[in-house]
Amino acid sequence: METRKELYRGKAKTVYATDDPLRLVMHYRDDVSAFDGVKLARLDGKGETNNRINAWVMERLTEAGIRSHFIRMLNERESLVRAMKMVPVECVVRNVCAGSMAKRYGIEEGRRLPEPLFEFFLKSDALHDPLVNDDHIRILGWASAADIARMRELSYRVNDVLKPMFAGAGIDLVDYKLEFGHPLDEPGGDLVLGDEFTPDGCRLWDAKTGEKLDKDRFRRDLGEVIEHYREVARRLGVPL
Ligand code: UDP
Repeated sequence: METRKELYRGKAKTVYATDDPLRLVMHYRDDVSAFDGVKLARLDGKGETNNRINAWVMERLTEAGIRSHFIRMLNERESLVRAMKMVPVECVVRNVCAGSMAKRYGIEEGRRLPEPLFEFFLKSDALHDPLVNDDHIRILGWASAADIARMRELSYRVNDVLKPMFAGAGIDLVDYKLEFGHPLDEPGGDLVLGDEFTPDGCRLWDAKTGEKLDKDRFRRDLGEVIEHYREVARRLGVPL
């Protein structure tokens, strides 16, 4: 697979074209960012760790019947994915109240929710990813009613698979963010999971001690960020 020109440089990953217009390469860099790109750093080994964790999680989701753009790892920092037309919203599922939800509603972090709670955010750093509802998405034309329903359904299904999987590794899956799209080689087809699932985009707390094992270590200057990402991988059995 020949990697061609850079198509898009995000805050932690770069996407490259390949000789096949239906396939892209996702390159996981060592960059980390928080607060819509205001806080930036480079963490040695993050790209490789996240690429491996993502590959492992996507494979588990595929086994559970949840389709994603992930095809296979190409090397320690890169994975081959299906090219997609992405829906410009972020889907968040929360099992425990934390982060922006705790702040928005004045609720203490750590309150366990009686059932998983779903939220949509518009993907826009410039606007600080505002919370949006189904009507905003449908009426403003970001996604159809069918895709909105499907994103919610698939996001909950991911929780059904991953929450017990993390629990088995002694990790509480507090919340996570997903992005969906339509693969270019399946016009009019079903939505599939895109982007990544790594400790950059979810909250993972040690089930016994509550210790944070995710990007909050960077956001909140708790230190040893990669060491904790690797601990997540080790507990899950992800080969590093
Ligand atoms: N999240 C993300 N990208 C974003 C916003 C949130 O990956 O642009 C993840 C975040 O890591 C957390 C979950 O989505 O696991 C919920 O994030 P929240 O809304 O609490 O926002 P935060 O306080 O993390 O900015």
